Amino acid sequence: MSDELHDKITRHRASVDSFYANVAFDTSACQSMAFPLRDIEGFNWNRGHGMNEYFNYFFRRFSVHILSRLRLSDGNALLNIGCGRNWDAKNIAWLHPSIDMWSIDISRMMLEDARTSGVDSPMAVAASEALPFPDGTFDRVLSREVIEHVASPLTMLREIYRVLVPGGIAVITTENPHAWTPATRFETRWSRKRHISMTMNIPGSCIDEPPFMETLEELASVAGLELADTVFDGALYHFLAKHHARCGTSPLAAAHYFSRLESNPHFARIFCDQVKYVLIKPKAIPDSPPQRTPVAYACPSCRTRLTTARHALICPSCREEYPDTGIPELIPRATPYYGADSDHSDNPACKRAFDAFSDAMLGAYEAFFLKAAQHAATLCRIAPGLLSVHVAPDDPLAVFLRP
Ligand SMILES: [Zn+2]
Repeated sequence: MSDELHDKITRHRASVDSFYANVAFDTSACQSMAFPLRDIEGFNWNRGHGMNEYFNYFFRRFSVHILSRLRLSDGNALLNIGCGRNWDAKNIAWLHPSIDMWSIDISRMMLEDARTSGVDSPMAVAASEALPFPDGTFDRVLSREVIEHVASPLTMLREIYRVLVPGGIAVITTENPHAWTPATRFETRWSRKRHISMTMNIPGSCIDEPPFMETLEELASVAGLELADTVFDGALYHFLAKHHARCGTSPLAAAHYFSRLESNPHFARIFCDQVKYVLIKPKAIPDSPPQRTPVAYACPSCRTRLTTARHALICPSCREEYPDTGIPELIPRATPYYGADSDHSDNPACKRAFDAFSDAMLGAYEAFFLKAAQHAATLCRIAPGLLSVHVAPDDPLAVFLRP
């Protein structure tokens, strides 16, 4: 790993830890977990009055789209990159008890919270750009709202390619770079300054992050992954959080109402703030049976399988020692691994463009956009067949959708 990337990962890690230290989370509410959704519902997003239900609704909604696209089958090995408090692990274990689930996150604090609230699948502190697993280890990879925060999105995608089996599926979720909605990529596209002023107000965003300008489709193809499906969701997610009062309804009702925009591919691309990419690692020989290496921790520097010692995991090849006090710490030291990273751009022309994009213009744009959203909603009412929420009532995932 280049020193520059290593420094970026270290800084990112510190900013994530300091942010999550300030977000309230009632772990006692989750001690006796009768139902996996309790974690989501017990979470305090600290984003103002009445907004917990709003964000929890979206979190559940995103869960439906992610879990249905993962197409898990019995005995699959699944890696969750950037698992946070690992609510997904509980929900997946509930839906598919036989899944061999492994999780990593850059924040030790969040993994310790996950353990406190009852997750017992293996978890390690690790960076998405240096996965501590051998090649061809996982049938499925899940990474939820992580790639827009990492130091090198392309390196992360190359690592996902490496650890997947041929034919394996990755579901990667992030912000929709095609969205026109205010308060999201449409603005950040023009300015890092705007991005920073916006993310300052959004807990979970680390203010030292440049915006994720690239579309993931392009990066994934460079990494060797094939795009199998794109799911746009989170209709007006950021916009309604700020402007729901102008729709004359509660934020939760507005969110559920506008979610119908997801069902129309043209509206979805424009109005949805989030996107789920389904990526496949192509098979070299079609119809070949999957050849999976058993899951075990490998050295994140040289990828040799680690051996267990007292309170540590040791690399027999490069002799690196990784502390292990229940949750191993598998962050590589500055070892040459990938070349220099320049995935994020900080374009001076974009910065200049921002200065022309005044707050007054932004206000006018928001007003225009609100009209567009209201017209889209009217269209939903006139032609309900055009936009409808497709969830089979007997689908176990439907429980995630209750508003
Ligand atoms: Zn090693």
